[in-house]
Amino acid sequence: MTATATPPTSALAGPGAALVAASAGPSTVDRIAHVKLSSVVLPLATPISDAKVLTGRQKPMTEVVFLVVEIQTEGGHEGVGFSYSKRAGGPGQFAHAREIGDVLIGEDPSDIAKLWTKLAWAGASVGRSGLATQAIAAFDVALWDLKSKRAGLPLAKLIGSHRDSVRTYNTSGGFLHTPIQEVMENAAKSLEAGIGAIKLKVGQPDWRTDVARVTAVREHLDPDVPLMVDANQQWDRATAMRMGRIFEEFGLVWIEEPLDAYDAEGHAELRRALDTPIATGEMLASVDEHLRLIEAGAQDIVQPDAPRIGGITQFLKLATIMESKRLEMAPHFAMEIHVQLAAAYSIEPWVEHFDWLDPLFNESLETRDGRMWVSDRPGLGFTLSDQARAWTVATAELGTRP
Ligand SMILES: [Mg+2]
Repeated sequence: MTATATPPTSALAGPGAALVAASAGPSTVDRIAHVKLSSVVLPLATPISDAKVLTGRQKPMTEVVFLVVEIQTEGGHEGVGFSYSKRAGGPGQFAHAREIGDVLIGEDPSDIAKLWTKLAWAGASVGRSGLATQAIAAFDVALWDLKSKRAGLPLAKLIGSHRDSVRTYNTSGGFLHTPIQEVMENAAKSLEAGIGAIKLKVGQPDWRTDVARVTAVREHLDPDVPLMVDANQQWDRATAMRMGRIFEEFGLVWIEEPLDAYDAEGHAELRRALDTPIATGEMLASVDEHLRLIEAGAQDIVQPDAPRIGGITQFLKLATIMESKRLEMAPHFAMEIHVQLAAAYSIEPWVEHFDWLDPLFNESLETRDGRMWVSDRPGLGFTLSDQARAWTVATAELGTRP
């Protein structure tokens, strides 16, 4: 009789066998039964302009389109995630998600790394960055929400927190379409609401307008209030250097996106020349794209955006790389996700405060003492509001409701 491929029973005996049995038992394994996709169009109260509009490259932004993913399992667990797009890409994200999403049906929702890869392979011909990755992000965020809810923990605690609150600054009050008097009023309101710092948009066609606005706000606020500026990629290298030198006297926390988002060498040169820290990264659409800038020494502060780089799984990979380089973190937009991830980063980070998404959820984040607080609700801690349902323009359902 020849040997069979099946090992003798004795090889599985002992304490190890008990561990194998426990890890694969019905108490840990669950199956994804149903996935609902929604395209939600959030209207903005006022058309929004940053430097990209003033240089004629984009139109004022009037809405943000969300790809919302709701996952249900056979075991009765649920997770909600989202991705988003501004000005273009919303219908594309939704269409791509609908094409690839059914590979999740029947899978164990705990195997998030495996599922990310499975989704990426399902759409491999459109690449691993940009719109394709952003569609995957909505699934990935929902899976992390589900896993942390199942553990009964806020996501930050599941990952491993360094803190329960994160420094926060306001962006939404300082756009370029807003008259300076209103910018100053908005700044005062933000500080009263417990937000700790103020960011102003710059990059106007006439540089003197930028200097005048920053000067006005700097003089209006208590000298201890930290201030940042954001040029949204609209300076060339010479202008960025000149403006960076002019702004040195303001002691800014950072200058954001002084140059084209992919100009690694230009950012690195600026960083070497200026005392003011350089922040960038919000436009990048994968960990690999971030890696190129990090390796070039392009920035002091990395501004990753989880929905843009493929979700929480990819964000955590990037955070590990950033940590090894001792880089600071200030994630872009989507504070509902990023407060959790920033709380789990070792170096004291900043989270960007935008109130735009508030109507989408029944819950809201607390700001106090200059900080944004991680709620004690499990998961991301958000449920979709009736308003979000009312703004839904398309849905698709995959699998079967349990
Ligand atoms: Mg920005």
